[in-house]
Amino acid sequence: MAGLFDLSGKVALVTGANTGIGQGIAIALAEAGADIAAAGRSAADETVGKVRELGRKGENFAADLSSVGAVQPLVDAVLAEFGRIDILVNNAGIIRRADAVDFTEEDWDAVMDTNLKTLFFLCQSVGRHMIARGSGKIINIASMLTFQGGIRVPSYTASKSGVGGLTKLLANEWAAKGIQVNAIAPGYIATNNTAALQGDETRNRQIMERIPAGRWGDPGDLGGAAVFLASSASDYVQGHILAVDGGWLAR
Ligand code: NAP
Repeated sequence: MAGLFDLSGKVALVTGANTGIGQGIAIALAEAGADIAAAGRSAADETVGKVRELGRKGENFAADLSSVGAVQPLVDAVLAEFGRIDILVNNAGIIRRADAVDFTEEDWDAVMDTNLKTLFFLCQSVGRHMIARGSGKIINIASMLTFQGGIRVPSYTASKSGVGGLTKLLANEWAAKGIQVNAIAPGYIATNNTAALQGDETRNRQIMERIPAGRWGDPGDLGGAAVFLASSASDYVQGHILAVDGGWLAR
């Protein structure tokens, strides 16, 4: 069975790998054997260092994913350095919080551009390469707000609901071409993204009380799901949104 989860010789492009969930996933994929192309607007030096300590190849690729113009140069650079991309993890994302009645167009566009538009065009660009090779794994990072409405985060909810829909659409189009497209929906994970919630005593207590596991998640909690969806263990899993949420959605 261990061979089913072995990523030796595979190349994974992980966006937003310098911190939080992206870092946790990149390190888990490297522990399973993958080489890591770490893409983001901040250098992922710590992540790349850990990947190399594991004996894998790790390289940084500077890319501001707030605009689609960054996509093709990034994919070209990764292919030039690594020769192939077997796994794409679309993790980079942002959140903006304000009441719906006050929400600005700027906060709408910024979140939709990074979380949804760039994600789609990265899937498209890497997908073309994977289709040509007849295999590949795409893992999009969704959210509880792929399933729920949330509060005070209208563009985030719209973007993550969109990620769920796109994951299914791409799975439908590419399943027969040997590409598996799935998503991970993290629950409440302690990262920069949720610092405001963790710092708000009332919201923090409300969230903790609702999580059956009784604790916030850690970026390392996403590793197993990522390795599963990146490996041949998931070759017949398509368009699935795998919640890793300590039971939040079951409540
Ligand atoms: P995080 O610590 O804030 O990490 C976000 C990552 O995205 C960082 O690497 C960030 O780079 C990168 N990023 C943001 N904008 C970018 C841009 N324009 N170009 C390139 N990279 C960019 O938050 P996180 O919690 O790990 O979030 C990772 C993903 O998980 C996001 O898609 C988020 O929506 C999703 N998620 C998080 C939770 C949670 O509870 N934490 C729950 C559900 C889903 P910088 O460091 O340079 O900003």
